Amino acid sequence: MRIIEDVKLDYADVLFQPKRSKLESRRDVEMLRTFTFHNSDRTFQCLPIMASNMDGVGTFSVAKVLQQHKMMTVIRKHYKIEEWQNAIGNGLNLKYLSVCTGTAAIWKKDAEDYALAKEVLERWPDIKFITIDVANAYHQNYADFVARVRDDYPDKIIIAGNIITPEMVEELIIKGADIIKCGIGPGSVCITRTMTGVGVPQFSGVMECADAAHGVGGHIIADGGCNTPGDVSKAFGAGADFVMLGGMLAGHDESEGKIEDGKVEFYGMASDRAMEVHGARKDGYRGAEGKSVLLDNRGPIEPTVIEIIGGVRSTCTYIGARRIKDMPKCATFVKVNNTINKVYSS
Ligand code: 5GP
Repeated sequence: MRIIEDVKLDYADVLFQPKRSKLESRRDVEMLRTFTFHNSDRTFQCLPIMASNMDGVGTFSVAKVLQQHKMMTVIRKHYKIEEWQNAIGNGLNLKYLSVCTGTAAIWKKDAEDYALAKEVLERWPDIKFITIDVANAYHQNYADFVARVRDDYPDKIIIAGNIITPEMVEELIIKGADIIKCGIGPGSVCITRTMTGVGVPQFSGVMECADAAHGVGGHIIADGGCNTPGDVSKAFGAGADFVMLGGMLAGHDESEGKIEDGKVEFYGMASDRAMEVHGARKDGYRGAEGKSVLLDNRGPIEPTVIEIIGGVRSTCTYIGARRIKDMPKCATFVKVNNTINKVYSS
């Protein structure tokens, strides 16, 4: 047994210290980033805030709004091919989409996710991204599956996760991933930390994973735990190349979920509710690691997106970052009393 004595921090444990800045207006901030990815060698430009592949978030309706801001959506893996067909025929831009698959293919012969992802990529080869998403990407089987997908698709941009430690960032990049999705337990409807006692506070985890990825030419997504635009900025300041959002984008008209009495259902993809919706059988070994909540219907998603982008722009002007890419270089964080920060940020 070993204890890491360094205290690890969450977003609520830090604030940016403001700095003299030559930026005169929020408009001067360059929010787009151009990436060249390590394994696929592809170049891609976007505003690097993305929608999570969750029910109610990774929907075609959300994607249609985000694409107008050059933001990506990882499409939830449960759409049928006909639904893809319809959405693509109705204005969905393939450029800002990722397909998503789990790894059931390696255990179950008749696994649907990877087969469906492959069919989507075959029909619409302009989709450049494949996300291989599992709750716990520390299995050797998982790393081997990433290598297999890389063999199948040498020139797609592969997103792999979730993990939250540097050695696993390196391992997955060696196996062929371009972007590593980082976060174990920070999600708004995640209960992994209480169910299992496992996790790393997200701000420190992101810092350490970014450091590992950038050392070997990889990139990371800070996935989960952002409750405010300020948290999104802190993730970028910590070194995240992309920030993935679930709860902050949930509860809108575009969730495609049940909206009743002004409430929108939102649940973790490992919750009992998700298992009920998608017909996953509980085999007696698995406890739910997600919860279900009812959110107030927040109306159209566009104003929320504008508010998030506006918050990040504003952070950049406070710290003198001309580009979103410069945020880590310009960031000095102060550790704060967690409780006070929570009061001010609510
Ligand atoms: P949020 O932005 O809501 O804080 O976090 C979103 C992230 O939570 C997702 O992108 C995903 O990584 C994670 N997540 C989604 N559903 C579940 C779940 O049921 N259990 C756990 N442990 N994490 C989840």
